[in-house]
Amino acid sequence: MSMKDFSLDYFNLTGQTAIVTGGNSGLGQAYAVALAKAGADLFIAARGANWGETRSLIEETGRKVHFFQADLSERKSVKQIVDGCMKVYGKIDILVNNAGTIRRAPLLEYTEEDWNAVMDVNLNSVYFLSQEAAKVMAGQKRGKIINIGSMLSFQGGKFIPPYTASKHGVAGLTKAFANELGAHNIQINAIAPGYVETANTAPIRADEQRNAEIISRIPAGRWASTSDLMGAVVFLASRASDYMNGHVLAVDGGWLAR
Ligand code: NAP
Repeated sequence: MSMKDFSLDYFNLTGQTAIVTGGNSGLGQAYAVALAKAGADLFIAARGANWGETRSLIEETGRKVHFFQADLSERKSVKQIVDGCMKVYGKIDILVNNAGTIRRAPLLEYTEEDWNAVMDVNLNSVYFLSQEAAKVMAGQKRGKIINIGSMLSFQGGKFIPPYTASKHGVAGLTKAFANELGAHNIQINAIAPGYVETANTAPIRADEQRNAEIISRIPAGRWASTSDLMGAVVFLASRASDYMNGHVLAVDGGWLAR
């Protein structure tokens, strides 16, 4: 690309197809709507069937949306999602691995069941779905995979050992995939959101003291709303980021700068 070629059109996703996991609520919904506003058609894979609001938000943009019910803790879902998207749209340009779960308990009481449940959704499904989608993208000779990390991709946290392990793992997978898939013109990057107002963080926000401690540590002085993450996902899905690969992009109101 030359300087003369560059324009805002580099952020335009018209004609592209994006899979977003967990795209019917919280951050996933914001990623899906952002990609639709930038021009992409959506294939949303989600466990719940609460699709009404997301459907209207996407249809308002004039883009197509297809919902697919899938539990990402089940390995068979991975192939079904990729095959489903191929059947509907015939290609996969963008994959956003957003679905995630969190279970809180003190380390000494943490159960094996909770460890496995978190690792299955947050790390194993990211690996297997990315691998399956990358096979399609390699054939297309282009693709964008966007993983969702966390501040817990960098820090240890408390009471959430598998969440921390899984989000460190997501950062590792982002780099490992980038190293092997760059040659196929596939870029894999991650977004590490800071503290965002969603169902996932409702228990922390409900704890007045913890909430005040968190806000006092964020240079922006507030929690993020899901819309604060919309620009980053469009950027990482677009041609504008074609020379970025294997990066974990913090969108955290300055949290990591402290
Ligand atoms: P959320 O509102 O709880 O959304 C999580 C999404 O993941 C939901 O759509 C949920 O579907 C889906 N999901 C969970 N388990 C699933 C499974 N087994 N199969 C399929 N889908 C499943 O939380 P969120 O805050 O938007 O989180 C989205 C992502 O951002 C997660 O990866 C999270 O770790 C990450 N993140 C969040 C924050 C934050 O502050 N909120 C910060 C950093 C990173 P159901 O509705 O069916 O449960």
